[in-house]
Amino acid sequence: MLIYIIFLSFIIGSLLGSFCTLAIHRIPLKQDILYKHSYCPNCNHKLNFIDLIPIFSYIFLRGKCRYCKKKIKIKYLVIEVLFGICFMLFSVAYKLDIINVNIHNIIFYFYSIIYITILFIIAGIDKEKKDINLRVVFFGFICELIYIIYLCIYKNTIIYLYEILYFILSFIMIIILFGLDKKDSYIIHFILLFIFSILYCGVSVSCISLICTYIIYFIYNKLNKKNSKQVSLGFLFSIINIILIICYYFLINFII
Ligand SMILES: [Zn+2]
Repeated sequence: MLIYIIFLSFIIGSLLGSFCTLAIHRIPLKQDILYKHSYCPNCNHKLNFIDLIPIFSYIFLRGKCRYCKKKIKIKYLVIEVLFGICFMLFSVAYKLDIINVNIHNIIFYFYSIIYITILFIIAGIDKEKKDINLRVVFFGFICELIYIIYLCIYKNTIIYLYEILYFILSFIMIIILFGLDKKDSYIIHFILLFIFSILYCGVSVSCISLICTYIIYFIYNKLNKKNSKQVSLGFLFSIINIILIICYYFLINFII
């Protein structure tokens, strides 16, 4: 794999990471994430192009807003770097080959990027707000539906019965949600997130993610029982699922 593809993956990943920080901040506030100009959350000053270059802007501005000099949280830099690394690892694991382009592989690659980005945003919001954001999960379901329809039309695959069943199950979960209060609805949100994961990476990877999630959840929360640093299920599941997907592609493309 060419070194510049790896480098380019990191750059694109950090740009997507920058978008994730914006989405994680704005989605719970029900603000627009595509058209509204980026601004400083402290002084509300519009940010210029030069303020928005991932990683570099943070370093050049020494972690401070150019206009009000308020410190920018280090987590923004961490998310950009982490997503850059995650995206780079995924591209390597996927064996992205832009010389022998296969259109179906490229489309699946973009579909995977959307899936990972959605999981990353879900993880970020859940960590901050203890909420698996349903609007983000629904957007994920729509992307999965579009991809299944694409496979039907252009690869002549059939829509499998289990796929229809998962969508019906999701619909039932949404109906159940109407009868629950906000506190009890978290587990239904988590089940929807789990179904969203199955539709992309299948039952085995999703179930391993689920088992790892519960093991870490119980150990971590037991160790931190006395302080309030409790970790949430949606955050853990999303991060573990991303890691396992990357491991899975490494396994099938480099080892097996
Ligand atoms: Zn500012």
